[in-house]
Amino acid sequence: HAVIFSGIQPTGTPHLGNYLGAMRQWKRLQDIAGDEDKLLFSIVDLHAITMPQDAEALRTRRREMLAALLAIGLDPEKSTLFYQSSVMQHTELMWILSCTASMGYLSRMTQYKSKLMATNKAGDLDEEITSRLKLGLFSYPVLQAADILVHRATHVPVGDDQKQHLEFARECVTNFNHTYNQKLLVSPETLTAPSPRVMSLRDPYQKMSKSSPNERSRILITSTPTEIRQRIMGAVTDSINMITYEREDRPGVANLIELIVQCSSEPTTPENVADSFLGANLGDLKAYCAEAVVLELDGIRERFTKLLERQGGKYLDDIEAAGAEIARQNAEETMRLFSVTHVKENVY
Ligand code: ATP
Ligand code: MG
Repeated sequence: HAVIFSGIQPTGTPHLGNYLGAMRQWKRLQDIAGDEDKLLFSIVDLHAITMPQDAEALRTRRREMLAALLAIGLDPEKSTLFYQSSVMQHTELMWILSCTASMGYLSRMTQYKSKLMATNKAGDLDEEITSRLKLGLFSYPVLQAADILVHRATHVPVGDDQKQHLEFARECVTNFNHTYNQKLLVSPETLTAPSPRVMSLRDPYQKMSKSSPNERSRILITSTPTEIRQRIMGAVTDSINMITYEREDRPGVANLIELIVQCSSEPTTPENVADSFLGANLGDLKAYCAEAVVLELDGIRERFTKLLERQGGKYLDDIEAAGAEIARQNAEETMRLFSVTHVKENVY
């Protein structure tokens, strides 16, 4: 049977990229899963604090993320939803994995570099930059590996930007199993969405992100139809006023075409969409794209708002408490294997 695990940071309301790249797949997997399969989705609050956060705001966002996961159709009867920090085994396994993980491999991860790049263009690990680089931002792929491995996940559905971190998680398995000469950890498979990564509406060379300061760069799954139309009509494209699909040369236009493909009710391809807009202009493409997205996200906003208010908040509290309990038990089963590291023998 399959164990499906994935996580999302409570760094803001999920956007169209999170939805098409990850969350929509989670719902689809839930709907096809059998009784033997397990699904766990974690709101990874400990990852969020690799960047400065206001504690109060982070707790609010964490709660909103739980409501968002339910609003897109995750069913707490079928999927275990929990906050990462409620299950201590994640951080415990992280430490154990850190003792066999390779620094060299970690330093080749691009994500911390791109966050650093905001301050240092070269991204070189010179003295100045390493003193500003926090250990947690550097080593968080180890925590991410622990998130997955502590639940013995067989499949991890993530967006395209997370492929590299999943390879690292498999590397952690190899290193650990090799060091202790036992096959204790399960190597997880990456499941990426058929969609390419969704790009920012303000800069088509950057992926759409929760943490980008420019709100106009993204569409939230809770945006109103008016906001969706405004943001897409205002999307940065280029000045060639005809429709062609060229990912390299016209990334802004390609992004809109790909959104149409992903939100279309019938299976189609970017080439087909581009052909169907022969003779049309960018305004036509944007207007069509906006309506496709409005339709795709229809209903989420209403469900989200209702969930936050349901039983004065008790509904969400109960779901989180129940999810944390199941996740804790599942993680503990894995940690019991770790008498192999000698320190925790007979503790569990
Ligand atoms: P942050 O900017 O705080 O890192 P984020 O938008 O990158 O936020 P995450 O919580 O890091 O979101 O990622 C949650 C999931 O969404 C991951 O599986 C990730 O691969 C996916 N994802 C994030 N951004 C995109 C995107 N632009 N296109 C497709 N998938 C995405
Ligand atoms: Mg991210």
